Amino acid sequence: RLTRKEKEEAIRRSNAAENDDIQTLRNFSRQEYLKKREEKKLLQLRDDIEDEQYLFEGVELSEAELCKLRYDKEMYELVKKRSKEDDNVNEYYRMPEAYDHEGGVNQEKRFSVAMQRYRDPNAEDKMNPFAEQEALEERQIRKATLKFDSRNRKQAFDEYQFVFDDQIDFVKTSVIDGDKFDYEEMVEDSHEKSRAKTAREALQEEREKLPIYPYREQLLQAVHDHQVLIIDGETGSGKTTQIPQYLHEAGYTKHGMVACTQPRRLAAISVAARVSKEMGVKLGHEVGYSIRFEDCTTDKTVIKYMTDGMLLREFLGEPDLASYSVLIVDEAHERTLSTDILFGLVKDIARFRPDLKLLISSATLDADKFSDYFDSAPKFKIPGRRYPYEIFNFTEAPSDYLDAAIEASLKIHVTEPPGDILVFLTGQEEIETAEENLKHRIRGLGTKIGELKICPIYANLPTELQAKIFDPTPERVRKVVLATNIAETSLTIDGIKYVIDPGYCKMKSYNPRTGMESLKVTPISKASAMQRAGRCGRTGPGKCFQLYTAYTFHKEMDDNTVPEIQRTNLANVVLTLKCLGIDNVMHFDFMDPPSDDALLKALELLYALSALNKFGELTKVGRRMAEFPLDPTLSKMIVASEKFKCSDDIISIAAMLSVGKSIFYRPKDKQVYADNAMRNFHTGNVGDHIALLRVYNSWKETNYSTQWCYENYIQVRSMRQARDIRDQLAGLLERVEIELTSNSSDFDAIKKSITSGFFPHSARLQKYGIYKTVKQSQNVRIHPGSGLAQVLPRWVVYHELVLTTKEYMRQVTEINPGWLAEIAPHYYQLKD
Ligand code: ADP
Ligand code: MG
Repeated sequence: RLTRKEKEEAIRRSNAAENDDIQTLRNFSRQEYLKKREEKKLLQLRDDIEDEQYLFEGVELSEAELCKLRYDKEMYELVKKRSKEDDNVNEYYRMPEAYDHEGGVNQEKRFSVAMQRYRDPNAEDKMNPFAEQEALEERQIRKATLKFDSRNRKQAFDEYQFVFDDQIDFVKTSVIDGDKFDYEEMVEDSHEKSRAKTAREALQEEREKLPIYPYREQLLQAVHDHQVLIIDGETGSGKTTQIPQYLHEAGYTKHGMVACTQPRRLAAISVAARVSKEMGVKLGHEVGYSIRFEDCTTDKTVIKYMTDGMLLREFLGEPDLASYSVLIVDEAHERTLSTDILFGLVKDIARFRPDLKLLISSATLDADKFSDYFDSAPKFKIPGRRYPYEIFNFTEAPSDYLDAAIEASLKIHVTEPPGDILVFLTGQEEIETAEENLKHRIRGLGTKIGELKICPIYANLPTELQAKIFDPTPERVRKVVLATNIAETSLTIDGIKYVIDPGYCKMKSYNPRTGMESLKVTPISKASAMQRAGRCGRTGPGKCFQLYTAYTFHKEMDDNTVPEIQRTNLANVVLTLKCLGIDNVMHFDFMDPPSDDALLKALELLYALSALNKFGELTKVGRRMAEFPLDPTLSKMIVASEKFKCSDDIISIAAMLSVGKSIFYRPKDKQVYADNAMRNFHTGNVGDHIALLRVYNSWKETNYSTQWCYENYIQVRSMRQARDIRDQLAGLLERVEIELTSNSSDFDAIKKSITSGFFPHSARLQKYGIYKTVKQSQNVRIHPGSGLAQVLPRWVVYHELVLTTKEYMRQVTEINPGWLAEIAPHYYQLKD
């Protein structure tokens, strides 16, 4: 054995840096040492405990402190080892304390074990303080693998007594383990909650119960230590609502705002509302949100929730995003088009803005991929809390998933113990139909069964109604939430015990060959299915009913959803990138590059719209177009209206086309009246665009009267939104120096402006009401809701194609084919 002196010599020689530490440490007082230890993370010293004991001889360390030191070091080694095993470049941020919460290795116990070990070094194997942790890890791994295998072993489980009227039945196919089994404890918690407390106090308590709360300090430390951090945590752990607040509390908002991006508008609004409540401030003041056409922020705003598309637009005005100190790209796993582009842009500015902190947060296991992309950024894992849940599958695919979903909701309501139901549907229409049917069916069931409260949630739902889904359900009442994909990860609704997943969502798809974009109801991916199922195990053991077969899950569903960038029209993005000075879009740092075809198609379209010149450079027209937060076709229509002296009219049309909801409404019992009212605006078969203009102008003439809207079967809410959008477009016109001129009696001028933007969407009548699109020769029809559906003009341009049972053109206007050659000679040539 070496003498102490020799040891000291050896260490000195072995590492100069460490040597420094040792030297300095020796001269420190105990307090100083402890402080230093914090700072320097002394646990990185690779010496064994003896050395430590020896090294700190001069310093008075208690036995307990030494124990802790040793324990810390072991943990550090363990973490390091594990991250090596994971082939992680950087350490996974699971500091010692992390193990308390999920693993049950609690602080005191851990300490006493470590103490024991210190006293009796041979007790090593008997007392492995990590045993429970390891067991947990194993469970987690099993959990991850189990999901996909056990479905085949369905007979092993009890057959589920869930027989449908039409004799389709469910069979239990998996049981997903949870981390939590103490349901009782949670029930007690909720009792406690009901005791009288101020709302604010109650909210603060709720905050402290979130899975992220124990990691607050470590998270802040990690943000402090690293510029880019990948955050990976289960839905509902508190990432979206808590992290911006933690950063604010830690002072990051002193020199700039914290931005948190959301893929969906509804999520941005709802989360901002929640956080402002938690902070006890007025929405729009310290906490605000910004979505397209709606900016709810003030000078005071320090936490800003925004759609990813809005942040993208902010790059245009402020390329270094100087007003922000932290950017959180949230729900990164959703991989929306804007998020994917943001990745490339924020990665770039992080390089020249070392003061900027960047957090990428996601709900799934993509953390590695994100980390790789961001130059091996460290990952911070927030362990979730999840109860076990069971998955049931159909043994046969239902003929109508909507009916099946309604049926399943009712069965659960009648036969299952209390707990709310979450049903995933594809969109507003489907949700409305389901709501109506459910209400009808419930009435038919009489008064014996309990009350069922139906809460729809989708992007266009009026804000007042949105909040309803978060209201706690009264006793004896069961809540059924009919939601779009938004409830998959963006919004967490507590109290859900049953999930019904028909396995579909509405998804955009794009065919770069034909340039056609369509929104289709598409089967979801396995990853989505698992996310959806996971929604039922948040507040107690749950059940998920998948309205498809186990075979479908295994054999027919894709593993992951294709990122939007690979299934969309890129014209808008390319225009934005060009405006940001990124000339070679083909070489942009995409995480998953889109196909060259799609990029070329986008460049081609922008060239056709004269936004780019033949060298692919941005033109003045292109720069003006980029000012408008609209599709290039719409913005071109606006820019072109200058020439036809009808900008005032065109922005009204653009605003009406941009309203998310429908303008007209047809109550079931008054359809005839509604249709008559609508026909008024179409007199002269002016086409849908001009009809929209007439609606807007008539409303304006009545001084924006609500009464007028009722009388004409027009949705006043949509109209108000149109008015807001129009005001903003008028402001933008001023910015690009286009005069506001009205020419509302010259329909040709207006139609020519429309054609200037929409000439790539022209179609010519064939036989039997079928049109052929001019460029792509696709067979399409006029949507039955159009004013021209019975008129069938020979030549038309359309606003968009929608695919329902057939491919339909929506918002159609008749044109003179001569205009095509006049307006876009480089795109169309006249044949003699
Ligand atoms: P994550 O982003 O990790 O999925 P969130 O921060 O969105 O988690 O949500 C954490 C918790 O905050 C949810 O489980 C829910 O209880 C609560 N919460 C979030 N938004 C709202 C809201 N608008 N109303 C009520 N509770 C909410
Ligand atoms: Mg979230």
